[in-house]
Amino acid sequence: MSFLVCVCVCVCLCTARAESAGTIPARRIRRLFSFQRHLLSSRLLRGAPQLNPLHILDEDYCGQAKCMLEKVGSWNFDIFLFDRLTNGNSLVFLTFNLLNQYGLIELFQLDMVKLRRFLVLVQEDYHNQNPYHNAVHAADVTQAMHCYLKEPKLAESLTSFDILLGLLAAATHDLDHPGVNQPFLIKTNHYLAALYRNTSVLENHHWRSAVGLLRETELFSNLPAEDSIERQLGSLILATDISRQNEYLSRFRTHLDENDLSLGNASHRHFVLQMALKCADICNPCRPWELSKQWSEKVTEEFFHQGDIEKKHKLEISPLCDSEANTIASVQIGFMTYVVEPLFAEWARFSDTRLSQTMLGHLGLNKASWSAMEPEASGSSEEGDMSTYSVTPNTQNNDL
Ligand SMILES: [Zn+2]
Repeated sequence: MSFLVCVCVCVCLCTARAESAGTIPARRIRRLFSFQRHLLSSRLLRGAPQLNPLHILDEDYCGQAKCMLEKVGSWNFDIFLFDRLTNGNSLVFLTFNLLNQYGLIELFQLDMVKLRRFLVLVQEDYHNQNPYHNAVHAADVTQAMHCYLKEPKLAESLTSFDILLGLLAAATHDLDHPGVNQPFLIKTNHYLAALYRNTSVLENHHWRSAVGLLRETELFSNLPAEDSIERQLGSLILATDISRQNEYLSRFRTHLDENDLSLGNASHRHFVLQMALKCADICNPCRPWELSKQWSEKVTEEFFHQGDIEKKHKLEISPLCDSEANTIASVQIGFMTYVVEPLFAEWARFSDTRLSQTMLGHLGLNKASWSAMEPEASGSSEEGDMSTYSVTPNTQNNDL
């Protein structure tokens, strides 16, 4: 695809220049990378004349990235490698590729310039300095969402509009995440907490940020359903609020018990999309160990960073954020037990496929690996309480 090729070429040329200098210190290289990002978003992707660099390394990097995209539907897809091959642009490339692969750009007659600008702005609005809640996480969730959209039950019932919404929601679901959680924003009187009245503060902000970019770029200005897209995008992103996990899980369980999910029904399809996005968002423990372990380290680093800020300012340290009371293993074992396992058990009932069995298989193996590292973790630390994971008691609501 020419978009991928021309961006890769430019990225790789800059990399080659940095390497050819031989002894450039790491900080200088990082500055070059930052410059590349600016160049990509400001000149190339936003419509300025393209540079025309050619270098043997370019073909190499582009070839590898394109090769990876041929297996974008694989559960073993290594998003970290893909992000390196695209020089930190995994979210732009992956989302663009998927929208194109599903034929959505053509079907909805999306303006290519607007689409590229939108995707670059989305990627830029993620905070690269967050160890976990950054654009690579968004790209990972989008890739997982793609895997779920291909599952037979969904593939045979979802409309193109559903798929467009699902992919966009995945790409934007953590937009402008500050790297701290809702309790932190509330106790520090952050303006977002006041704006959204202490309710789904982050998720509301992600949604409104996404809407802001959609309106700024006028990506859907040609579609009559613009209002509906914004509303449904919000409904999907708000479903990722982990404190409402049991509400969604209970509804899902009831539908499965009564076998009454009818995917010809638009509201039922929307509910399934919500569940798919929730699964995609917390699927890290269901990935192969090499990938799962990296995510575990990153999310714990972000938690502990928040804990350090709380300590420094003499605030109460949030659950899971105290590096002296928790370990990566203890955080993971609790998260898997109370949040991930219940959700994926129901998902596997709904979509009883090879992928679901693969995910449950990885989940079991990964949990065993963490348990082996910390045999006493299952009872001695903070992870033994469901509320630690912000999962509130069930408020059952069967309405769709
Ligand atoms: Zn997320």
